[in-house]
Amino acid sequence: VNGLKKSFDLSAGIFERKRSLKAVHNVSFAIRKGKTFSLVGESGCGKSTTGRLISRLLRPNEGEIWFGGMEISQKKENQLKAMRKKVQMIFQDPYASLNPRMKVRDIISEPLEIHTNLSKAERYKLVSEMLEIVGLNEYQADRYAHEFSGGQRQRIGIARALIMKPELIIADEPVSALDVSIQSQILNLLKDLQKEFHLTYLFISHDLSVVEHISDDIGVMYLGTIVESGPKEAIFSNPQHPYTQALLSSVPIPDPKLRRDRIILQGDLPSPVNPPAGCRFHTRCPARMDICKTIEPSSIKGRVEGHIAACHLLDS
Ligand code: SF4
Ligand code: MG
Repeated sequence: VNGLKKSFDLSAGIFERKRSLKAVHNVSFAIRKGKTFSLVGESGCGKSTTGRLISRLLRPNEGEIWFGGMEISQKKENQLKAMRKKVQMIFQDPYASLNPRMKVRDIISEPLEIHTNLSKAERYKLVSEMLEIVGLNEYQADRYAHEFSGGQRQRIGIARALIMKPELIIADEPVSALDVSIQSQILNLLKDLQKEFHLTYLFISHDLSVVEHISDDIGVMYLGTIVESGPKEAIFSNPQHPYTQALLSSVPIPDPKLRRDRIILQGDLPSPVNPPAGCRFHTRCPARMDICKTIEPSSIKGRVEGHIAACHLLDS
């Protein structure tokens, strides 16, 4: 993903005042095949919009999205068919994303119906297999989604995503609606499935402890920009950006030697309709300098391969 930008037009009212919400601003990153790249940040920072752009549920204003050797950012629907088969999504609230009037069997086989010519019998056979794989059983296939618990519903959502043998799964807050004990079951399931089927994940979460559990690489987002990205270990052990440092300081760490002082950010998250000039974090940054108010920092490479952060403190 290269230089991705997306804004939403909010012009309205009797004077048609021109206003736009700058949801994603110059976002670049790469997802390694067979690995998990997580986008993390507070709600409203542009994580979900980025996921929807990459899955081309939305079209970006600018930037490139490369998938399987093809640049798909501006492709039309009829050119996206191949990609639609290979990219599947899992959503936060499996109940809202599952049709209550459909039996589980039909919910899970629906993508096959849309994208393949398989017969009903062939589709249902794959559904039975898939139910097994996600830890349910085929006797549950004739029931409706409301008859299942939240964790089971997410297993159904995963089965539905997996049945197309996708290359990339975009999971947007897939465990946020679940109890903590169920969360780790679902995260472990996602990890096991990744190993078994060589899946690549784009994982979206506001929760750093979830992200720590599942990620290989991380991009930290603030107000539509990625402020820091790199291998999980580098981000967690050696965060370079003041925003990443503040986020990490709020995660409980059992080992007292590793514990850091909590950094409390002052002020509110600015509106993405009117983001601050220069560094978008400057209104809340404990380390801001004069230059930060006017000049947007560029990405600086760290010592670890792939670790980058955008902050003037790192300019040399
Ligand atoms: Fe803080 Fe300036 Fe770095 Fe932005 S560029 S994070 S305001 S020090
Ligand atoms: Mg979201």
